[in-house]
Amino acid sequence: SEKLFGGFRKTSERLSHNLTGAVGTAKLDDETLDDVEDALILSDLGPSAAARIRAKLSEKRFGLTITEKELKEAVAEEIAAILRPVAKPLEVTAFPRPQVVLVIGVNGSGKTTTIAKLAHLFQEDDYGVMLAAGDTFRAAAIGQLKVWADRLGVPIVTGPEKGDPASIVFDAVKSATETGIDALVVDTAGRLQNKRELMDELAKIRRVLGRLNPEAPHDVVLVLDATNGQNALSQIEIFKEVAGVTGLIMTKLDGTARGGVLVAAAEQYGLPIHAIGVGETIEDLRPFDPDLVARVIA
Ligand code: GDP
Repeated sequence: SEKLFGGFRKTSERLSHNLTGAVGTAKLDDETLDDVEDALILSDLGPSAAARIRAKLSEKRFGLTITEKELKEAVAEEIAAILRPVAKPLEVTAFPRPQVVLVIGVNGSGKTTTIAKLAHLFQEDDYGVMLAAGDTFRAAAIGQLKVWADRLGVPIVTGPEKGDPASIVFDAVKSATETGIDALVVDTAGRLQNKRELMDELAKIRRVLGRLNPEAPHDVVLVLDATNGQNALSQIEIFKEVAGVTGLIMTKLDGTARGGVLVAAAEQYGLPIHAIGVGETIEDLRPFDPDLVARVIA
């Protein structure tokens, strides 16, 4: 977890700095609670999580003296309480196989890298993995995914640039079924600038998938870039509407001071968080451990 600690260092420093300002007095009074709440909001945890943590602290410790260390521990405990219910690894359980995992998110969020990392995690669990290059809008996306597939040694189904993603997904599911693949991970276009087109494209993929297997897609995983801070939250809002999100992966938690947005997302949307990205290599997708993350942040 060294990398994880390093990854959240900036977030932790920021929250720590903000909280330190809060315990000017030793007693947990309204003024101190105000300062704690402000510190949490300033650290990207969002107004709703901040209010909830404040209320819990007040309920448990109002009027009692509290040291800075105790305050941080108490905040960590409340953060963990928010994160625990949403921690849910992406498990391969589909029957019949393959499990179809649609991966969605805006360009630049780390979607392609996350797909490769996910494929690697599945491989480590001895699952047969296949990729499908459903982002036909960007030629570079197809090429990049191919490179990852070769590196990982997993089959990939691609089509022509500007080709129909639904037809690629159709071919991929057929091929995956025939070859006994356990998990099919599908890249999709991230063109939020054209919401209507993206919506139609995803709807068509869903229709085609549904015809092959009524349960598919089994997962619709939204990849979010933590460095976008509060913007990551509005992306959840939009993609919920456009695509029907079943879970989240937050990337780039290394090196950003905005890791608190993970807590805001958990509190505001309650969507499962499957994993977190803490770097650019294939090993850098970590299971989401709520207690560890809470301790690292606060
Ligand atoms: P896409 O456009 O959404 O498919 O994004 P990419 O997968 O191409 O990633 C965009 C950039 O972000 C690349 O340089 C990745 O190496 C980088 N990236 C992806 N995930 C992470 C992460 O967890 N941490 C860091 N530091 N960089 C990441």
